[in-house]
Amino acid sequence: MTNGMIDIREFHWMMDMLESIEVGLVVLDLDYRIVVWNGFMENHSGITASRARGDNLFERFPELPAAWLKRKVESVVLLKTRAFTSWEQRPYLFRFRNYRPITGTEAFMYQNLTISPLVSTDGTVSHVCLIIYDVTDTAAGRKALERANAQLEKLSQTDRLTGLLNRGAWETLLVNEFERFRRYRHHCALVMFDIDHFKRVNDTWGHQAGDEVIRTTSRILRQNLRQTDIGGRYGGEEFGVILPETDARGARIFCERVRKNIADTTVSTHAGDINYTISLGISIVDDTQSDYTQWLEQSDKALYAAKEGGRNQVRIFGEDLGPD
Ligand code: GH3
Ligand code: MG
Ligand code: MG
Repeated sequence: MTNGMIDIREFHWMMDMLESIEVGLVVLDLDYRIVVWNGFMENHSGITASRARGDNLFERFPELPAAWLKRKVESVVLLKTRAFTSWEQRPYLFRFRNYRPITGTEAFMYQNLTISPLVSTDGTVSHVCLIIYDVTDTAAGRKALERANAQLEKLSQTDRLTGLLNRGAWETLLVNEFERFRRYRHHCALVMFDIDHFKRVNDTWGHQAGDEVIRTTSRILRQNLRQTDIGGRYGGEEFGVILPETDARGARIFCERVRKNIADTTVSTHAGDINYTISLGISIVDDTQSDYTQWLEQSDKALYAAKEGGRNQVRIFGEDLGPD
């Protein structure tokens, strides 16, 4: 065996051995007629070698990706080199059911595929050999890992600058809270707040000092949170807070405290001392919101009203401003 080529004469005596191995072995002539069909293929397809032999592969298995496989085979024949495709490119060539108990979650057998040219005595390629590997265990393991990673990422996503939950993670919890209201009528307040004239902070003191202001804001927020409250960095200088079991009165008290704490704080940076304020908007979950995005929107409207009203203040949707 050299250059990935197998001499067809060697191939015959290898057949006995290959008949019983745990990989699929199919030899095709250049018209895609089946010449060899080993035990593995018999077992998984339910078609015996005596029935398969002589049949055109694509007539026997009309569901095969004919154009794709032909392109692969043609290049193997032309270049006289082996080709390999993995389950990641194409999960399987033959749609075999997966019967393995440990990887029972996967319905079909994942397969890697090798296509080798078989060279006849005159030196030309007269056949190709397909070798089908069952890689269901590997694929199932990898897929389980990917699922776990995705979940982990979603759950543990914190923002680097502030250590608060980032927008994605925070919003997932907001959805949960909205569902909790739907099911159990648990009340909950949603606060959105935004630093006032933050652009000016950046422009005057520099971006690094701006970052320091954002960090200070998150620290003060965290100091005011109860165990069950959920703070997140929603955007650049915009924050979201979920206050479970809190009504409008409680939310206003919370917001006023944070607002005052920040207004009373001086941030000492390398560029100088910075005083700043925030504006806050509150919305209480109720039956007027058909989904959580409307809840967010209401808080955002209240926040906008606080900005319009002169900044450094708290507004509640539905109380300080009407539903429209
Ligand atoms: P307003 O009172 O209306 O909120 O005015 P503003 O200047 O705060 O408004 P705007 O939302 O337009 O400005 C936000 C600025 O925040 C723009 C952006 O460059 C800056 N910014 C966003 N993320 C960061 C960050 O992580 N660090 C710093 N330093 N600046 C940021
Ligand atoms: Mg701002
Ligand atoms: Mg903003």
